[in-house]
Amino acid sequence: MFNRFLRIFFPEHCPVCEKPSLDHRTAPICRECWQSILPYTGPVCQRCGRPLVSDVSIICKGCIEDEPSFERASSFGLYEGALRQAINLLKYRGVKRLSAALADMMLDMQTPVLDAVIPVPLYKTRLRQREFNQSAIFAKHLAGSTGTTLILDCLIKVRDTAPQVGLSAKQRRKNIKNAFEITRGETVRGKDILLVDDVFTTGATVRECSKLLKKTGAENIYVITLAHGSRDY
Ligand SMILES: [Zn+2]
Ligand SMILES: [Zn+2]
Repeated sequence: MFNRFLRIFFPEHCPVCEKPSLDHRTAPICRECWQSILPYTGPVCQRCGRPLVSDVSIICKGCIEDEPSFERASSFGLYEGALRQAINLLKYRGVKRLSAALADMMLDMQTPVLDAVIPVPLYKTRLRQREFNQSAIFAKHLAGSTGTTLILDCLIKVRDTAPQVGLSAKQRRKNIKNAFEITRGETVRGKDILLVDDVFTTGATVRECSKLLKKTGAENIYVITLAHGSRDY
């Protein structure tokens, strides 16, 4: 209870280890906890990037049963520990100073050279509540650092959807269906696209966006996310 009180009123305490965290680039997450954020290097599905139990199989069950529209999805790390806290602080608490440090992690990942970068959009009321779209911040950073075109007005979210947390894979797919639309299809036609999101859980969102972009005429879609939220156990 007391620790909870400290966390709420004295955000300079690191939310991961609860030790005092002085002002620095990644505050309130302390330097030690930030350094504990490492890329995931275990076996993953070669299609969707889902961490696998062993490297015996190279494609996960989900991708075999229902082939995604994207060529490949990859995540920097696992959605746990300090990385999870950092994403949530940015997303739900508006700790914007973490965005550049998080985007740097994405830059460290090897992504193919593509024609354009597109973030997974938020619905307008969510955008107002949150004031910014964290995926768009990452996409802007990636586009700027690699000299790639950033497209923000092509893929839009036209329907507010219930939070995906706690829903099964099937429910997530249903929840997100027809939630996106394309406004200026010509901007993606024939192009190789890097689609950016913060967390890959079941992949329902990026699958839906990729399907739509492909249908519009995009050539190849590559998905990049900061963290992978589920393992194929
Ligand atoms: Zn810490
Ligand atoms: Zn897969």
